[in-house]
Amino acid sequence: MAKIPVKLVTWEDIVSWSRELSKIIKSSGYKPDVVVAIARGGYVPARLLCDFLGVDNLLSIQSQHWTEAAKVAERALIKFRYSVDLSGMNVLLVDDIVDTGESLMLAKNFIISEWRPKDVKIAALQWISPVAKLRPDYYLIEVREWYWFQYPWTRLEDTCQFIKRILKEEGVSKREWSFDDIVSKFREHYGIDVGLDYFRDAVEALVSAGVLEEVSGKYILKL
Ligand code: AMP
Repeated sequence: MAKIPVKLVTWEDIVSWSRELSKIIKSSGYKPDVVVAIARGGYVPARLLCDFLGVDNLLSIQSQHWTEAAKVAERALIKFRYSVDLSGMNVLLVDDIVDTGESLMLAKNFIISEWRPKDVKIAALQWISPVAKLRPDYYLIEVREWYWFQYPWTRLEDTCQFIKRILKEEGVSKREWSFDDIVSKFREHYGIDVGLDYFRDAVEALVSAGVLEEVSGKYILKL
């Protein structure tokens, strides 16, 4: 089974990374009047940066990738194109990570043309420099080798997807899985441990979505 390189990021990492990032922004002399969080990954870092930088104004913009029907091409889009007047204001646009950088580029262009601020600067906790199409003005960690960073705010979503992927790919040789089988295969395969509460929630969510079926204490992949 193809291995996706995964790294677990903890809540403690996020708080200390955001604190360190705020110091970089402060020492640059940039004084944001408003922080704009990219939904959904930028929410928590943006809120923490407001705290560390003493910024009261926090807005959000949802810029995300979507797969076209044929699933050949992927592009980013702004989901809710509302208008606000930010004239005369310095904006700090915040995301968790710059991977391709497409959602940030799109959001930045939209904000400049529709919200008309004085200036926009981008801050991200992590920047995957070999693949990103843009370099954020402020970042804490330059990632030189691609990983999927398992952030605390996508823990359940990612755990569901990873479990589904394991059961799908191992389906040829194994059809019925106990809860313990799922947990140990997940830990062995991805090399991270999300904790039993997340494993339980993920299996329950997959059963209610009809992805897994429970038959006498064993789980079978349906979809
Ligand atoms: P992008 O437009 O490719 O820079 O990424 C859009 C969003 O997808 C990011 O803000 C993250 O929330 C999520 N994302 C993309 N790549 C990764 C990654 N390698 N690890 C964790 N989350 C990611």
